[in-house]
Amino acid sequence: MSVSQGFDAALAGVLGLLVGSFLNVVIYRMPVMMYRDWLTDAVANLMSSKDQPSLWSLVFGPKSKAPKELEAAADKAAPAIENLPRFDLALPASRCGACGHKIRLHENIPVLSYIFLRGRCASCKTSISPRYPLVEAITGALFALCGWRFGLTPTGALWAAFAALLICQFLIDFDTQFLPDPLNYMLLWLGLVGAAMGWTGVTLSSAVWGAVFGYLSLWLVYHGYRLITGKEGMGYGDFKLLAALGAWLGADYLIAIILVSSLVGAVIGLTLRFAGKLAHKDIPIAFGPFLAGAGLVCLVIGPELVRQWVPFAFPLGTLLR
Ligand SMILES: [Zn+2]
Repeated sequence: MSVSQGFDAALAGVLGLLVGSFLNVVIYRMPVMMYRDWLTDAVANLMSSKDQPSLWSLVFGPKSKAPKELEAAADKAAPAIENLPRFDLALPASRCGACGHKIRLHENIPVLSYIFLRGRCASCKTSISPRYPLVEAITGALFALCGWRFGLTPTGALWAAFAALLICQFLIDFDTQFLPDPLNYMLLWLGLVGAAMGWTGVTLSSAVWGAVFGYLSLWLVYHGYRLITGKEGMGYGDFKLLAALGAWLGADYLIAIILVSSLVGAVIGLTLRFAGKLAHKDIPIAFGPFLAGAGLVCLVIGPELVRQWVPFAFPLGTLLR
């Protein structure tokens, strides 16, 4: 390891700690922002179908009218939605969930503040989830890895962004069973751009086919499963996430990604079981965390080692490269 390699890793690591702190905000707020958008849209659509009855009859038949109760509900909800205070990734400032204490700058230093505060709110002493410093530490470690492996280059920055987006998708899906579109699309576009610029080492055609086959394969599994069992096994977010991973790693990696994701699923399942969190068998486990985890595993051990470890997962390797 050269001096400059160590310097790049350290600098990227510090940046990663700061980014990790921001990811905590994204992971908590993005689902809330999504729910707010959906509610706002639902009320706006009900209001507009009230003003334009043709919209309602277009869906429910020529003579049908929106039920009075729905109209009344929309009327009631509209002002409440309009008066919602601003809520996005920038505002309002972070506060303690228990007492509302505004988190000051020196209480917001990644990992260190958690240690100095002994994992408790500075004001009300309610314990803070260790997940926050853990996300910061993992993001810092993965950024350091990218800086160490690729230096402070566009390639290093791109793979660091890959790590950050996957950490978000992993935890958001774990918490809410949703994979936000903006994050999936950002991941997909960055993968395609990285291939086009030659930064990810994947040919553009392999990246495009990776995205296409990634989406199609899970789409087929989903509809096949639904035809046979009448149930929905996963969601459209999963197709988009595998499409994005296909764009990053190339079409020939898709089978390996699925293999690694089932391994990740087994590890997460066993961990949760031992932690006593899987007492109820009915709790649906999202597939997204396994896919995101597989992407992170591929980043950590390196795509080339994946190819060496599971060579049988690359049957069409030469065709799709
Ligand atoms: Zn507090």
